[in-house]
Amino acid sequence: MKKLYTHENRMIIFNLKNVLEGEGIDCSVINEYASGGAGDLATFDTWPELWISDEKQFDKAQEIMQKIVFGPAHGYWYCKGCQEKNGDAFELCWKCGRPAD
Ligand SMILES: [Zn+2]
Repeated sequence: MKKLYTHENRMIIFNLKNVLEGEGIDCSVINEYASGGAGDLATFDTWPELWISDEKQFDKAQEIMQKIVFGPAHGYWYCKGCQEKNGDAFELCWKCGRPAD
């Protein structure tokens, strides 16, 4: 198991997980429920984390993640909330969590 990515918005983590699983990469979400009732304990430690089960798949997973998070050469949209560039595979802005219009 190797940690790939973490974000405060669990929807983004699950979106990424779905894409990776579609590519045949086995992965799991850790801290899935930690941020719910944490109140002011909601620190970085309670953010959901996406872990890759097989470290041999990590490089491929990272490549896919970067394409999604940082935007491929084609297929992206700009967030109306924070102007961040998002890959088409994301339904929510990876940075601020605002949905795509
Ligand atoms: Zn945004």
